[in-house]
Amino acid sequence: MTQAEFYHEGELVGVLTTQPLDRVLDYKAPEGGCRAGAFVEVPLGPRKVLGVVWGPGKGDYDRSKIRSVIRVLDVAPMREEMQIFLTKAGDYTLTPMSAMLRLATRAPGLSDPPSMQKVYRLGGAEPDRMTDARTRVLEVLRDYGGLAFTLSELAETAGVTTSVVKGLVKLGAVLEEDRPRDTPFQRLDPDYGGKELTEDQAEAAGVLRASVRSGSYGTTLLRGVTGSGKTEVYLEAVAECLRAGRQALVLLPEIALTAEFLTRVEARFGAKPAEWHSGVTMTERRRIWKMVGEGGAQMVIGARSALFLPFQNLGLIVVDEEHDTSYKQEDGVLYNARDMAVLRASICGARVVLASATPSLESWTNAEAGKYDKLTLTSRYGEAVLPEMRAIDMRGEQLPSDRWISGALQREVNARVEKGEQALLFINRRGYAPITICRACGHQIGCDHCDARMVEHRFLKRLVCHQCGETKPMPETCPSCGVEGRLAPVGPGVERLAEEATALFPEARVVTLSSDMFGSARALKAQIKAIADGGADIIIGTQLVAKGHNFPLLTLVGVIDADLGLQGSDLRAAERTFQLMRQVAGRAGRSERKGLALLQTYQPEHPVIRAILAGDEEGFWQAEADERRHASVPPFGRMAGIVLSSTDVQEVFDLGNDMARRDGPLRQIGAQVFGPAPAPIARIRGRHRVRLLVKADKGAPLQAALARWLAQFRPGPQTRISVDIDPQTFY
Ligand code: ADP
Ligand code: ZN
Repeated sequence: MTQAEFYHEGELVGVLTTQPLDRVLDYKAPEGGCRAGAFVEVPLGPRKVLGVVWGPGKGDYDRSKIRSVIRVLDVAPMREEMQIFLTKAGDYTLTPMSAMLRLATRAPGLSDPPSMQKVYRLGGAEPDRMTDARTRVLEVLRDYGGLAFTLSELAETAGVTTSVVKGLVKLGAVLEEDRPRDTPFQRLDPDYGGKELTEDQAEAAGVLRASVRSGSYGTTLLRGVTGSGKTEVYLEAVAECLRAGRQALVLLPEIALTAEFLTRVEARFGAKPAEWHSGVTMTERRRIWKMVGEGGAQMVIGARSALFLPFQNLGLIVVDEEHDTSYKQEDGVLYNARDMAVLRASICGARVVLASATPSLESWTNAEAGKYDKLTLTSRYGEAVLPEMRAIDMRGEQLPSDRWISGALQREVNARVEKGEQALLFINRRGYAPITICRACGHQIGCDHCDARMVEHRFLKRLVCHQCGETKPMPETCPSCGVEGRLAPVGPGVERLAEEATALFPEARVVTLSSDMFGSARALKAQIKAIADGGADIIIGTQLVAKGHNFPLLTLVGVIDADLGLQGSDLRAAERTFQLMRQVAGRAGRSERKGLALLQTYQPEHPVIRAILAGDEEGFWQAEADERRHASVPPFGRMAGIVLSSTDVQEVFDLGNDMARRDGPLRQIGAQVFGPAPAPIARIRGRHRVRLLVKADKGAPLQAALARWLAQFRPGPQTRISVDIDPQTFY
């Protein structure tokens, strides 16, 4: 399709709607015609639905029954590059196009007429009688030189009631006007701020700037230890992109990080960028969606779904902490935002910067192979040096079974607290205890809907299933044997560790940072800031603290259980543990005070633990790559995870066996199918789950073969098939 295509009234057009139908439907162009890419409202049965004119109609349907497009919406038409992106991303992830279009229209009220709001500015008339309040209002309006305010903004700034403003309107001293609610964002100035870069940083920034100027696609892996100034460097690439008049998108893995980042952007560019994530209000989402499409937003920072915003002229995508697993969507459409960023950029001629201290093996391999450019910052900025890392061999510590902080770690924590420094105790497990067992009969309390144990959360005073979110109060008696008072927690979670720390360090201020302990992102941000300002001595944290926060007083990191991630059969267990331990350790000693990271482990000679301690990154990646190459697994082979789920256990196994038997389309491309087997979590929300795993060579056309294979089966009404290309987790 070309954007120049225009359809006159009555001509047939094909419209893709957000409704789950697997085809583009024919309609007649409305009065006044419509162009390809236009967002339209069309009738579908008794309803009106949102759609996009995807191209000419097929004309394979009885013409007399074809209905007309109701109207063309007043928003920028979808650009051709977006249509291509959605199509390719849909093909890659085997997602129906209607679901892809839903991703691209995640803003409410797109079909509403542009909404207006009343604004107030200085009028010509002088009021006959001046009061203090009136004077203040007029002064505010004069001070801001012609700027328009909303009623509440103006009243608040002047410190008067709204009736004072209304009174001035009646007198003609203040003008009331209508203004569209969806207004452009404040312009960013690429030359506003900016730090003086070190030699290392300046060189990397220079290379990135030149690459942005080239105006063509390319991906750069920007590596550098935590604190080396990667953010400073990629903001220079953003500046160059803005100078070129193009838009920039920065993806962050965690909403909690945006506040700190927004402040840095404002200091660099003199204004705030648009902020897109699940915590943003609906009206703001619509504003961003529209402004991105019209060029009224130069920079967006956001979560992975920001990739599907209708950028008018996208020149740069930064994926910060590119190895982070939260970039992989694990619900609904299964996509990896890092890979989709590269796809999107390659279509619209934009640059990609993947930033990380501990890149994913995929990106490391692509850089080694020359598919990505590579830039490395080797040292921390300023006085900061990387923390020293040591293992604590837990076999020699002889802790009682309900204690997890070793004597060695305890001594180091005490030393820090005495000096007024901070210590972080890290455990990657939410809640109080992962298991609740009955000491009378041995029964472990499980979820009624999932094959998973309930996790005790004392903070919430409930048992919580981490699979489905179901909660229930802690029972008084064992649900299995009925004996009272014998239920006991087994193993540590972050809350239990906090309890131990409070007892061990009675003089210290202990705070816990875990994602489920804060009612809102705002409360969490406030807590993070309080810690950074010195409002705590000991921080007990989950994975949440591993990401990007800067705590200047923090000089000791104690990892309670470094072996935790090494258990299990996950293909990426070693990689994940390596990344996580390096990230957590990187929290220590980010200013001039030197940091120390202590890893409590029962297997100090494990190769992954040894690699972490040695800090031998290249060696680790090389060994990990060799192992995966040898096993022909990603990134050296391709995989797809298929999960069948149903309320009927017989139905899923029958279907799974049938799928394994009729594997012709897969064998044609040399792919193998493994399973069916019960999934590691064999039941979630009352649905039984069966897994198949498809493995293929790197170059094999996997998606096409999967599509042909899946098309052979008609699952029962209760059964769902979910396909995960490049699965990151196996559950
Ligand atoms: P990274 O993104 O690699 O973790 P940052 O860009 O966040 O590193 O830099 C770490 C800290 O050092 C930040 O507080 C940052 O402002 C500061 N910093 C880095 N480079 C410079 C510089 N050239 N001048 C001043 N401060 C810098
Ligand atoms: Zn459950």
